[in-house]
Amino acid sequence: MRDVWVIGAGVVGVTTAWYLAEAGWRVTLLDRTGAVGQGTSQRNGGQLSYRYVSPLADAGVPLKAVQWLLQPDGPLRFRPQAELAQWRWVARFLRRCHGRANLEMTRRLARLGEYSRNCLAMLMRDHDLPPFDWQESGKLVVYRTRATFERAARSADNQGRRVLDASECLAAEPALATLAEQLQGGLLTADEAVADCHAFCCGLYERLQQHPRYAGLVAARALRFEQDAAGTLALVSDHGRHGADAFVLAAGIGSRALARSAGLDLPLYPLKGYSLDMPIGPQHVPPRASITDFERKVLYARIGHRLRVAAMVDLVGEDDSIDPHRIGGLRRVAQRDLPHAGDYERAEPWAGLRPATPDGAPIVGPTALPGLWLNLGHGALGFTFACGTASLLAHLMGHGEAPLPLDGITWPLQ
Ligand SMILES: Cc1cc2nc3c(=O)[nH]c(=O)nc-3n(C[C@H](O)[C@H](O)[C@H](O)COP(=O)(O)OP(=O)(O)OC[C@H]3O[C@@H](n4cnc5c(N)ncnc54)[C@H](O)[C@@H]3O)c2cc1C
Repeated sequence: MRDVWVIGAGVVGVTTAWYLAEAGWRVTLLDRTGAVGQGTSQRNGGQLSYRYVSPLADAGVPLKAVQWLLQPDGPLRFRPQAELAQWRWVARFLRRCHGRANLEMTRRLARLGEYSRNCLAMLMRDHDLPPFDWQESGKLVVYRTRATFERAARSADNQGRRVLDASECLAAEPALATLAEQLQGGLLTADEAVADCHAFCCGLYERLQQHPRYAGLVAARALRFEQDAAGTLALVSDHGRHGADAFVLAAGIGSRALARSAGLDLPLYPLKGYSLDMPIGPQHVPPRASITDFERKVLYARIGHRLRVAAMVDLVGEDDSIDPHRIGGLRRVAQRDLPHAGDYERAEPWAGLRPATPDGAPIVGPTALPGLWLNLGHGALGFTFACGTASLLAHLMGHGEAPLPLDGITWPLQ
């Protein structure tokens, strides 16, 4: 039996470990926290957003970014860093900001989204996962400006989206009552889902621990890769040197430094985001579907008995601290717009780093280094794509063939 080590036990690492164990590999997980789902996968927005996969880079985004930067509680922050990586990431991102690139990548990611949806459905059907508050509650994207709404409504054909006018939005979602004056309309997609990403990681890990080919979770910080004179790859951690037939780098934003030790210069950058997580009491009016406020870039998702509010993209380096101004801003916006949706007094703040490529697509597959594989860079859609990319990687590491075209999501990026 061949041995594989998966580095990183976030949602991407845990799903990768599962699909590889199912494909016949003996799997070891390694994470510096010694637990699963502790990084960005811990308290994200919880949306399984299979149909809304359009990358951030698009025509008009640079101009909008300037406006966002000027808003006090706006969705974007940029703090220039003394590191080349930030500027190179921004430069590549700007080059991708045109309609054709966006359309092409959206098409590829929609394919990956559909595949991921099917992979999770099969996982849930075949393995009786412990509950993780999965619910197909639908997704409603609401618009405040007429032109944006009309543009979105025109593109809704054939994508499973229903166009709602403002009064239909309010009838479907009484939680939006405070926004009645501003709403222009919305797009409702009935088959999108939400779930608790951390609970999913823990539930799948429970099944993994029962798997005959699971070897265990090593609590260690991976430091670098090394190759001996014969070209055999090893991983060095603060617990020693580890050999295996293969290694999968799935360490979220931590993958950047590790890849560098293997000579790979990955275009990954941390996009910091924030969330609030709060209980919902009997007196509250939470949204039924998950709601995305298109102009404010804020999402509201009911996950079990809790409300998750998530937003913001901060380019401020590899710093996951909770900036009191930013989380205060998010709280102000949410409490003003959906004031009765949950118990804001008991809201728990959180921040995480989206491991993002400028293209908005994950990187899955082999590297030029024999034995080193990648599954990383899932950006804003890691929960959504995790099962799909893990399954793709297991196919590739098995017989070398993937059930989907991989253009745009393999290394090196085109
Ligand atoms: C505010 C916010 C909202 C979001 N909302 C959504 C959403 O609604 N839907 C969605 O699909 N996605 C969402 N995302 C994105 C999603 O959370 C991420 O894409 C996903 O969690 C990335 O998973 P990962 O496993 O790659 O990284 P992580 O979850 O960060 O896991 C990486 C793991 O690697 C470990 N690690 C790192 N370096 C090392 C090292 N050197 N040695 C050992 N271990 C290491 C870390 O400890 C960590 O456990 C959101 C993100 C944010 C920030």
